[in-house]
Amino acid sequence: MSNLLADLLAERDYLLADGATGTNMMAMGLPPGQAPDLWNVDAPEKVTRLHESFIEVGSDIILTNTFGSNRHRLKLDKAEGRASEINEAGARIACRAREAAGRPVVVAGSMGPTGELIEPHGTMTREAAEDAFSEQAEALARGGVDVLWIETIFAFAELEAATTAAARTGLPVVSTMTFDTAGKTMMGDSPEKACEFIHGISPRLIAHGANCGAGPAMLVDTLCAFRRSALEDDVIVAKGNCGVPKTVDGAVVYSGDNATMARYARLARDAGARIIGGCCGTTPERLKAIADSLEGYVPGEIPDTAAIEAALGPIPRRAAKKGRQRRSRRAGPAAPDASQG
Ligand SMILES: [Zn+2]
Repeated sequence: MSNLLADLLAERDYLLADGATGTNMMAMGLPPGQAPDLWNVDAPEKVTRLHESFIEVGSDIILTNTFGSNRHRLKLDKAEGRASEINEAGARIACRAREAAGRPVVVAGSMGPTGELIEPHGTMTREAAEDAFSEQAEALARGGVDVLWIETIFAFAELEAATTAAARTGLPVVSTMTFDTAGKTMMGDSPEKACEFIHGISPRLIAHGANCGAGPAMLVDTLCAFRRSALEDDVIVAKGNCGVPKTVDGAVVYSGDNATMARYARLARDAGARIIGGCCGTTPERLKAIADSLEGYVPGEIPDTAAIEAALGPIPRRAAKKGRQRRSRRAGPAAPDASQG
């Protein structure tokens, strides 16, 4: 089956994804604690503007504003009965923004975690997770997305439920997991183990990789681990945060600048990533820095730890707390705002 993402991957060495959704929407006035997803219905013009600003700086792939639009996560906003409406609206907004681009832009339907742990680690059944992801995936497909993009996942059981549900639509599926706890997922799984798990998924994922997490240095380190375990033709995705979050005057800001993201992007290419964008804190300006740094860049050797740390600072291998503590449901697995950025 012909698919825009597959076609572009066949034509080009790399594709530029987009930047953050959640943190950029906060900068656009999203009240703290409110899900960005509701804007698909309540303020579609703002969602459109964010998509357009990423397309303007060169995004080949834009992610829908539906990261938290599964019925479990929507419960936080008492909108659990509106999953189909919100997902379909998000897909249509992104598709309209793409139509105005004048060049091929892939619309990827974002699907984030439910916020619950699946049995035996938590109380959610595998069926309940799969049902919720099916509802979301079907609505995104109806809205016209080219691919389903499962992101910020930290548990294999949830990844399996999401990929199973997504694949049932017949669309290609991308997944990115978050490795933010000393180089592993919150559940303690390494990138190598993730690769092994992902290679067992059928039908095969069109691309997979890492997003969000504990800053660009750890993300590039994760990519290097992926590269060692990946199959030759695996398409690896990098969507790292723009540095690490810190609170300044009550607002969350990200420590990275344009130069950080330019260095991160080149190292991600060196590590073999073919789809590169940014997660939390990545504004359109930062994404342009990524785009510029990749233009005409010829990838070098896979970077070693010294090269990564020289460019991006220390890899916080032991900085994260031990154990599997759960973050707040709103925050998700990674940052103050894990809404795919
Ligand atoms: Zn993020």
